[in-house]
Amino acid sequence: MSISPEQLLDNSMLHPEVLAGEDAYGIYRNGHRLDHAEGASKPLRSRPEPQPRGAKVHGNRPVNQAEAAGRFIAAPEHEKMHDERLWDLRQKRDREMHHIPEWEELRALASAIKEHTLTHLDEYLDQFETRARANGIHVHWARDAAEHNRIVHGILSDHGAKSLIKSKSMLTEECGFRAYMASVGIEVVETDLGERIQQLDKEDPSHVVVPAVHKLRTDVANVFANTIGTDPDNSDVHYLAEAQREATRPLILAADAGMTGGNFVVAETGTFVVCTNEGNADLSANVPKLHIASIGIEKIIPRLEHLAVLVRLLSRSALGSPMTQYTSHFRGPRAGGEMHVVLVDNGRSERLGLEEFWTSLKCIRCGACMNTCPVYRRSGGLSYGATYSGPIGLIIDPTFNARKYSNLPFASSLNGSCTNVCPVKINIHEQIYAWRRELVKRHDVPLVKKAAMKAAGELLSRPIAYRAAIASADVALAHLPRFVIYNGLNAWGKHREVPHPPKQTFHSWYKANRGGKQ
Ligand code: SF4
Repeated sequence: MSISPEQLLDNSMLHPEVLAGEDAYGIYRNGHRLDHAEGASKPLRSRPEPQPRGAKVHGNRPVNQAEAAGRFIAAPEHEKMHDERLWDLRQKRDREMHHIPEWEELRALASAIKEHTLTHLDEYLDQFETRARANGIHVHWARDAAEHNRIVHGILSDHGAKSLIKSKSMLTEECGFRAYMASVGIEVVETDLGERIQQLDKEDPSHVVVPAVHKLRTDVANVFANTIGTDPDNSDVHYLAEAQREATRPLILAADAGMTGGNFVVAETGTFVVCTNEGNADLSANVPKLHIASIGIEKIIPRLEHLAVLVRLLSRSALGSPMTQYTSHFRGPRAGGEMHVVLVDNGRSERLGLEEFWTSLKCIRCGACMNTCPVYRRSGGLSYGATYSGPIGLIIDPTFNARKYSNLPFASSLNGSCTNVCPVKINIHEQIYAWRRELVKRHDVPLVKKAAMKAAGELLSRPIAYRAAIASADVALAHLPRFVIYNGLNAWGKHREVPHPPKQTFHSWYKANRGGKQ
């Protein structure tokens, strides 16, 4: 069944809360609602803080995350908002977790399900392909990003499709899909609100769940004023969301094809599941007759019963809500339609063979590790200059390109909070530390950093020399002129203050007070 524009605008399709307030907001009964927020218009401040942009990426050169993070920190309104917004999500996640007495058992079970599947990946992928074909789904295999893009382009060309509506998918970001489609003349429109904001602003998503979380609403007002013609002085969130919806709906209704990702792929049924909070995947999948789903091979799970474990963890970990608003199961093409699934490897089988990093493939992309990470919260996802940011990004990105992302594993305090919140029990901070060792071994770190780490290693392995150095450093710190630490050549001194040296080290206190006895 297709939906006509009249049906979409009909009041019966509107959310009851919107209808309840329609008179107050001046909404007409025929459903034309764009002016509803004018009464609530809040003028922008005369000079809103400019949005800091992400890392400057130059081909294969190592991304300078610290430089981009420095610019984010230098924008105090953005930094504060980002930190608070993500910490709020982390706290909501904690509250939800405490409502589930068997939370730790669920995590252990989820981890076991994913580890079992990854160690039998070939069998489950085969099973999925057989069942999905029996359900009438066309199944394709893509070795890498280029092959994925070519396959999707081939399907679209076979149908003469010129426009595609797409629901959020990190895999397509990994594949540079939008840029490829633009190069072959196919228009791609994002249906997720955050992703659409990023698309209109020509930026990548900065978070796996909330792609535009780094933007203030004044930033969004600015983007929409420049791209869809909204009032630049109105940053009311309802007005902006509604204006975007009105501008995008005609494109959705006219699209030739729809694309989604897939959060979980069930081998026993040959089906896949997409979780969203806006229902936008359902628009992408159900409005056009052609539905293409691009899915990473690690998203497979053996049976439907395993889904129950994983969906209980996903939204609670991501947003602190018990369930995503829409958990849609796709079993096959609708009458008169066509459904294609593209199963993408793009480095995943290689990662599966890396002894220290293979369990990163258990990731269900909930973003909880980002929300809790002090570095991510204060530097913004775009500072990482990579598809995946935050703690899990520090592990995944170097597997794509160890040289380009060689700085990322150092953007962590290794406090372990990411590991504590991960719903599938990935030992994230240990893998980050393993990457540091690996990069030093491979010479993929700058010489200065390498020399400093070597010197520190030598010192820390000799207790007598270490204690002597600490004692003299404390004296030196008390008398050193400020410029020795706080100068342009010492990156460590940026945004940090050295604490006052203690009058006595713990070691000397212990010796004096306990006589060195255990
Ligand atoms: S690593 Fe864990 S916490 Fe981070 S996004 Fe993946 S599943 Fe979520």
